[in-house]
Amino acid sequence: MRAPEKRGEGIHPYKIVEIQFEETMRITGITYSEKKDLLFPFREITVEVPVRMDNGDVEVFVGYRVQHNGARGPMKGGVRFHPEVDLYEVRGLAALMSLKTGLMDIPFGGAKGGVTVDPAKLSLPELERLTRKYTQRIGLILGPFRDIPAPDVNTNAQVMAWIFDEYSKAHGFTPAVVTGKPVPLGGAPGREEATGRGVAFITSLAAKDFGIELKGARIAIQGFGNVGSNTAKFLYGMGAKIVAISDVHLALFNPGGLNIPEIYEYYYKNKTLKGYDAAEVLDREDLFKVETDILIPAALGGAISKEKNADFIKTRMIIEAANSPITPTAEKTLLEKKIVIIPDILANAGGVIGSYFEWVQNLQEFRWDRDEFFQKMERIMEKGYKAVIDLAKKENIDLRKSAYAIAIERLAEAERLRGSY
Ligand code: GLU
Repeated sequence: MRAPEKRGEGIHPYKIVEIQFEETMRITGITYSEKKDLLFPFREITVEVPVRMDNGDVEVFVGYRVQHNGARGPMKGGVRFHPEVDLYEVRGLAALMSLKTGLMDIPFGGAKGGVTVDPAKLSLPELERLTRKYTQRIGLILGPFRDIPAPDVNTNAQVMAWIFDEYSKAHGFTPAVVTGKPVPLGGAPGREEATGRGVAFITSLAAKDFGIELKGARIAIQGFGNVGSNTAKFLYGMGAKIVAISDVHLALFNPGGLNIPEIYEYYYKNKTLKGYDAAEVLDREDLFKVETDILIPAALGGAISKEKNADFIKTRMIIEAANSPITPTAEKTLLEKKIVIIPDILANAGGVIGSYFEWVQNLQEFRWDRDEFFQKMERIMEKGYKAVIDLAKKENIDLRKSAYAIAIERLAEAERLRGSY
């Protein structure tokens, strides 16, 4: 079951989770068999996804769904469409979802799905056919009380609408089978911005605790997708100075602070930061060279590594908006430099908490408004944040180990109570 050490130039994303998991296991009171059980995924499937392309040819893609742990509730996690997706990545991300829902104490387990594809190369009808075929093939193991997908890298509300429709064809009207849907189809107002809003909220709590004045704080954000762009928007609204942002092409830099509302509008109109000319343009990797108070990786796993950038990063705090953005060796270097790291399962949990609210509303055929959504989301996140800080202080451990330990103990407790063995 062990992940390969490497993928391309860097460490494999599942290896990152495996190492972090194992390091934390050493400090928890759980037994060797519980440890083995928790690391092992409950069930995984690999499916063939044949798609009729617009030119008449059939292309075959590969899709995955990994269900990591369902002891605490139906398994939950996003679906990503990306050329680098493989089984190990999906497996690692599924484990992270179990930890995230465990840490936040919401009644879900963890899962993740993905298709190895570059969606930018597909037309909209091709993307729809791919999504529907993938849903048919993994549909057997989905269900509102079994496994509930949601958006992740390169998937959005429209993709969720197709998953909902395809599943409902076979099972009757079932909005609760997927979250992150468009609002007219049972999506929850607030869900789309929930991850970014949660990242900004956790940033504000952590900044206060660690002596950083958020108003005027210099922040760099790597990635301008759903999470990065919304994080930028909310932090800008809180008075922070966003000095650098990046997308897949380039980085934008302004030491005086970027005009985020203008860039947000530009990006959503043009689908790229390319061509925006009211800021200095840098190579996208040079974002990590910008000196900041807070650095927020909001793109893919392994973005911060010893080989690429950990040695020259100059910041006081890193907030992991992406899943697994820091490799374990980079983390050691950063912690030695006394940089505070707020781990992914805490920082970006707003998304899955929002999904929980959407699911609850779908099951009840009921609607809450946005304010109620965010109020409840922040209450859950604050509780999780405090628990992580308290345990870290009590045990003198870093924040990731603290977050993992809380989550792992909850999972083990549920397994024990259910009598899983
Ligand atoms: N993809 C998001 C994450 O990694 C959200 C998952 C969900 O809402 O189920 O947390």
